[in-house]
Amino acid sequence: MDIQGLQKLTLLDYPGKVACTVFLGGCNLRCPFCHNGELVLSPGPALMDHEELLTFLDRRQGLLDGVCVTGGEPLLRPDLPRLLEAVKEKGFLLKLDTNGGFPQALEDVIRRDLVDYVAMDIKNSPDRYPETAGVPGLDVEPYRESAALLLEGKVDYEFRTTVVRELHDEDSFRAIGPWLKGARRYFLQGFVDRDTVLSPGLHPCSREEMEGFAALVRPHIPQVELRGVD
Ligand code: SF4
Repeated sequence: MDIQGLQKLTLLDYPGKVACTVFLGGCNLRCPFCHNGELVLSPGPALMDHEELLTFLDRRQGLLDGVCVTGGEPLLRPDLPRLLEAVKEKGFLLKLDTNGGFPQALEDVIRRDLVDYVAMDIKNSPDRYPETAGVPGLDVEPYRESAALLLEGKVDYEFRTTVVRELHDEDSFRAIGPWLKGARRYFLQGFVDRDTVLSPGLHPCSREEMEGFAALVRPHIPQVELRGVD
């Protein structure tokens, strides 16, 4: 498997764990606010392969608790389970970031106990999903299926939404709350503008607005927190 990037140490990506983060290129979505434009549109040459990653992990035994696998969209890769299996065999915890577009692949890695924590993006209310994911006419059903799968609670998980002024409003969160009713935890993440964003010209919401959105969701999900908000 081609691995496009490796952050050797992160204290932020895996809640409560010391981890590294592995980046896999390619994505089925084109979220306008995506920071990983290059990784999504033209992944480029591999930084390392499967075996080289395992060699790196051998050298990090006892130093890292876990490995985060992110993208792009990792579940696009048919050989992902083989990578996860090899990492788990070395005794590391595994966190998977996903946009939720591949519920069968997600169900497969959960059933095979290949992931310990899943972070799934909730792009927006279902009716604004295509626009927020940057794919006109997008079928939202797979994303509903993935969310329903996580809500079953067979693996630890979080849902998270990157909040963008041009894409989200109170109605977004009035719809998301009942959709994810009973979820373990839900994060509202502040959008940060960068040169690498797929569509320039987007803006974050203020802390006050984000608090207001969180309050709309809390009757349905007790643990709602802001993340990355000044
Ligand atoms: S934000 Fe995530 S799901 Fe959206 S285009 Fe970027 S990598 Fe894909």
